[in-house]
Amino acid sequence: MLPEQFKSLKLISECPVCRQKQFPAEIRLIEERPAGQLLHIQCKSCQSCLVVLMSFSEQGINMLGVLTDLGSDEVLKFFRRGVLSADDILAGRAEFLDQGFIGKLMVKNEITKN
Ligand SMILES: [Zn+2]
Repeated sequence: MLPEQFKSLKLISECPVCRQKQFPAEIRLIEERPAGQLLHIQCKSCQSCLVVLMSFSEQGINMLGVLTDLGSDEVLKFFRRGVLSADDILAGRAEFLDQGFIGKLMVKNEITKN
């Protein structure tokens, strides 16, 4: 549920994917801190999603948005995870080069479908 103070704001006037102006959207507050809020915005026309970091300063409101394929329930998990390390990248590369990578990916995909 979006806090009352955000309902009158026009956060983004045009969907960056389908370019519909004043697009209908589902907006979820993911996390709120004194420095700002993390929002997940999904365009109801094309279903594309944005993660928006909104912060307040003496100069005004700052917003930084990124297109994502993450659902609102997944954003916080990745946001809290932190920065990728060199070890994370090397582990991902080793996983990718593993002969069974595609098979594991397909099994994982089957599990999430059911
Ligand atoms: Zn759209």
